Amino acid sequence: MVVKTVWSVDHVCGHAGEVDLSARRADQRAGYARWLSGRDCTDCWHTARAQDAEATAERIAVQRAAEAEAARAWEEEFRMPPLEGSERAVAWGARCRHQLVTAAYAALVTEGAMSEGQWAEVEDAVRPVTPAGWWIDQRETDPVDLPELLAAASGTDRPIENPHF
Ligand SMILES: [Zn+2]
Repeated sequence: MVVKTVWSVDHVCGHAGEVDLSARRADQRAGYARWLSGRDCTDCWHTARAQDAEATAERIAVQRAAEAEAARAWEEEFRMPPLEGSERAVAWGARCRHQLVTAAYAALVTEGAMSEGQWAEVEDAVRPVTPAGWWIDQRETDPVDLPELLAAASGTDRPIENPHF
């Protein structure tokens, strides 16, 4: 007897279909057909995946909007100047700046030994750094390094070596 190659499968999604299992070994076909019957049909699987992708994109968009809103409120409260760059870079850089500066405050002041007065100096150093790209570049930096990075950005971490100045 020859084991059939085309099997009809009743998928859990309610659809039935015929599958060609000729590429599988004869003794594996029944098991594979049973495995398929425990899953959605190909169409439903693709639809579910597309919906997942859409839901993920929507979730990210909602999260981005919330982060942008938080960054705007923070900029207003702490008198942070707008960033410079393309529209996309400014939006991204604003989120990075907000997240990095608030994380630095938590690490250095709330959980660290820095005084509010010293922190005010850090904030003063944050304000002049307005290129959005700078903040995007620092997005994965350790928040405790922020004061050092700000000093590097303003050039105050290096003594001026040119004797003519
Ligand atoms: Zn289906």
